[in-house]
Amino acid sequence: MAETTNSNEIQQNPVHDTPVLTTTDQSTIDSSVTHEPPRKKSKIPLPEKPRLLEERIGSILSCCICLDLSTLAMFQCVNGHLMCASCFNHLLADCKLKDEQTTCPNCRCEISKSNCTRNLAVEKTISELPIECDYCHKIFLRSEIKLHQAENCSDRLTVCNYALLGCPWTGSFHNLSTHLAGCEYPSKTGLELICTIQAYKKACDEEKKCLETVVDLLSLNQIGVSDLILKPLRTDDFVAKLYFETSRFTALQYQWQLRARINDNNPHPHTTVTRSLSYQLVLKSKVSQTIDLKFFILKGPHGDPSNVSIQPIIHHFEFSPNNTETEYLKLPISSHECNRILSSSSISFRLLMVQLDKP
Ligand SMILES: [Zn+2]
Ligand SMILES: [Zn+2]
Ligand SMILES: [Zn+2]
Ligand SMILES: [Zn+2]
Repeated sequence: MAETTNSNEIQQNPVHDTPVLTTTDQSTIDSSVTHEPPRKKSKIPLPEKPRLLEERIGSILSCCICLDLSTLAMFQCVNGHLMCASCFNHLLADCKLKDEQTTCPNCRCEISKSNCTRNLAVEKTISELPIECDYCHKIFLRSEIKLHQAENCSDRLTVCNYALLGCPWTGSFHNLSTHLAGCEYPSKTGLELICTIQAYKKACDEEKKCLETVVDLLSLNQIGVSDLILKPLRTDDFVAKLYFETSRFTALQYQWQLRARINDNNPHPHTTVTRSLSYQLVLKSKVSQTIDLKFFILKGPHGDPSNVSIQPIIHHFEFSPNNTETEYLKLPISSHECNRILSSSSISFRLLMVQLDKP
């Protein structure tokens, strides 16, 4: 019985609507009075303060995971649900660690780097929405806020002009001139400043020394440069663990392999907020003598987000017939960069190995 009444209604409605649509505007409005939309409209004025258009648009365009309006790229699933780049990478990385198919938190459709697209219209619309300055609390466009907070805001946090000489003062930019008028650092004597300058020089020297060592190593005779792709693999354990491995490669006339793991093999890396990647260099050739080796990792020439920057950290290891594996060494990248690497299908690095001559 119920079914027949329903189908009657469905059939009746279009018949009813069609002539209405072809008549004047007034009658269209009249006919809509008997339908759903006006009832919904009457609910809107109920809240005391009607929300501003910007707020309503903002809540529509926010990331469905962190619920924030992001200044990053915005991705969408095939059904149009929006995710900011940071949450998107985090989600892909999490699911890779858990060995699960990544699904949209809203509609559960499959998501991957290849089936999700950026939504430029959303990104551009967000950049036109207002945002409050952290310092002066005035309202600016999102596209302008970075420049305002960095250079133009009179309340922005700033340091003393003589910070390099050791003045610890920090404060609002509009208070800087008052501070400078009374700052004692410009009138300090060389004797008073020498300690600060020495400490500063020491830090610079250390950085310089590291780069000089890299340059020195690059001028040595026996050097191997290998561009490596780390592929994700899983252990045979009951709860399969994710790790990465390169195929065997030849450098300095020996066979090698590189392995990497996440969060130092923490059994539940997906439950931690911070992520790290560490790697191990393994000698695969049989050797009878020792190989005195210095090596470091740089970002690879291939691979998608090549803006991951890796500071060279030089490691020293003596490979011998009984000692063919280095310990796991932390890769100096941020947790955020680690997620981005994890979310991509493979990891590309450049490994530099230098064999030291026997003294
Ligand atoms: Zn997000
Ligand atoms: Zn979705
Ligand atoms: Zn401001
Ligand atoms: Zn000062």
